[in-house]
Amino acid sequence: MFGRTVPDAVRHLYRDIVKPGVRFVQTSVRAIDPVARRVETDSGAFDADVLVVALGADLDPASTPGLIEGGHEFYTVAGAFATREVLESFSGGHVVIGLTSTPFKCPPAPSETALLVHDYLKHRGLRDGPEVSVVMPFGVPIPPSPAASQSLLDAFAERGISWVPERMVRALDPARKVVLLDNNEELPYDLFLGVPAHRAPRVVQESDLCVDGWIPVNPLTLETSFPGVYAVGDVTSVGTPKAGVFAEGQAAVVANQIIAQHRSHDATNTYDGRGICYIEFGHDQVGRVDVTFRSGERPSGQFEGPSAIYAADKSEFGSSRIRRWFGRDWAAY
Ligand SMILES: Cc1cc2nc3c(=O)[nH]c(=O)nc-3n(C[C@H](O)[C@H](O)[C@H](O)COP(=O)(O)OP(=O)(O)OC[C@H]3O[C@@H](n4cnc5c(N)ncnc54)[C@H](O)[C@@H]3O)c2cc1C
Repeated sequence: MFGRTVPDAVRHLYRDIVKPGVRFVQTSVRAIDPVARRVETDSGAFDADVLVVALGADLDPASTPGLIEGGHEFYTVAGAFATREVLESFSGGHVVIGLTSTPFKCPPAPSETALLVHDYLKHRGLRDGPEVSVVMPFGVPIPPSPAASQSLLDAFAERGISWVPERMVRALDPARKVVLLDNNEELPYDLFLGVPAHRAPRVVQESDLCVDGWIPVNPLTLETSFPGVYAVGDVTSVGTPKAGVFAEGQAAVVANQIIAQHRSHDATNTYDGRGICYIEFGHDQVGRVDVTFRSGERPSGQFEGPSAIYAADKSEFGSSRIRRWFGRDWAAY
């Protein structure tokens, strides 16, 4: 979005995963039968002993009136790179960054975007004029982490970024260049950067797995209510935020269960709901939240930074995953 990298550098193809015995089939899943553990795809049907559903969350910008015509979503790869061109040609005015629904992926991302937009506009010499506002339906930017939220609010205040709490974007009126909020107030905008509505993929919605839009699972084992069927990541309503770091932790627990089942012994670990999130503050400073979500308990965690140390930490976090999954060296920038 901010011209710091190119598409090829951030695209990691599933077919390049280097794990012995893993066959990657690039195809579309058309139907899931959790009772028969059978999946219909464009490449034929697959019958499974164990089925793990990890289809993520789809984005639905069309469900917010005016968003496609008058705004820009920055949550898809295509949307982020398109926004880069929009930012490059932006000549000033009011930038509004807003949420159109919950739940959404990566709770810090809208706040990070505001801080990075500020840096970007300042670098282009535009920041004296344009105002930046962040619209979110919460009292603070990241409710599970009061310390991270306070640090973000301090950063907003230092940079003159307006924080609009307890509000959601209902629609845009591109003709009048206004954002319509859920309390019927209006916010004028020159550039709108939106987080679009999230939905479970249609094939999941149409299966018997879905309850209230997402797949409920046992929070300790990630098992669905169907024997031998698990779900991990954004497609679940497990109670952790929709973030890759939680999907990764959940996948490890499921892998452990499958191995234990194969070896006919009990699984040794259960899901602890823990994840580390890095938060971009701009100026190459990154904060780090170590947070645990346990079913029925308040989330607990620790926030540190922002600092250049955690920027290096974040970079290593990314590189280590690419090394482990794809067997190659990689650097974020
Ligand atoms: C702007 C942004 C910033 C983020 N930053 C962070 C961060 O800093 N840290 C973090 O931990 N997380 C971050 N996230 C969130 C993270 O990307 C997701 O939570 C994570 O990718 C979820 O993993 P998943 O495996 O559940 O789903 P996904 O990674 O979405 O994978 C699901 C896959 O299933 C495929 N699929 C869907 N339907 C079908 C079908 N019918 N047939 C075949 N394939 C299908 C999809 O194409 C996709 O490839 C960020 C997200 C965004 C948008």
